[in-house]
Amino acid sequence: MNDRTLIDECRALAPRAYAPYSEFHVAAAARTAAGTVHRGVNMENASYGLTMCAEVGALMAATIAGDLANIREIYIAGGTVNANGKLTGKNIVTPCGRCRQLIYEAACLSGRDIAVICVSGDGTRVRRSTIRKLLPYSFGPHTMGKRENNRGARRSSRVYKR
Ligand SMILES: [Zn+2]
Repeated sequence: MNDRTLIDECRALAPRAYAPYSEFHVAAAARTAAGTVHRGVNMENASYGLTMCAEVGALMAATIAGDLANIREIYIAGGTVNANGKLTGKNIVTPCGRCRQLIYEAACLSGRDIAVICVSGDGTRVRRSTIRKLLPYSFGPHTMGKRENNRGARRSSRVYKR
């Protein structure tokens, strides 16, 4: 079930992104099992390669709160901001490759798949997926021989036997 409140919240938050170069504003909201929401927006830089995605901000906020292992779902909305300050755009915004890897790390920590809800700027189009679907055959802690928490180790080993 998609949560219209979080979709609307992302759409309201995205215009606050610092995106003077691309003018493409993105917001992400990561919700934990307990219902806590950690938010982020994209932040660009004149040195383009230093740009941070909205998902990075949300995951960083979750990390600071000790919630990285508790994320159940992440909402992402992005587009351009119109003259009235509202987010617009018909295209569904999905996480980039780096962000998929970062979300996957959180899934490994929790041992649960994470729902990824991708939303168009105007909020009319929503695509629900999971990080394991968006990042098949993933590189993760197991690849490096690292043990995850007990629940994570059990669940992720099942995933990697595909
Ligand atoms: Zn990204």
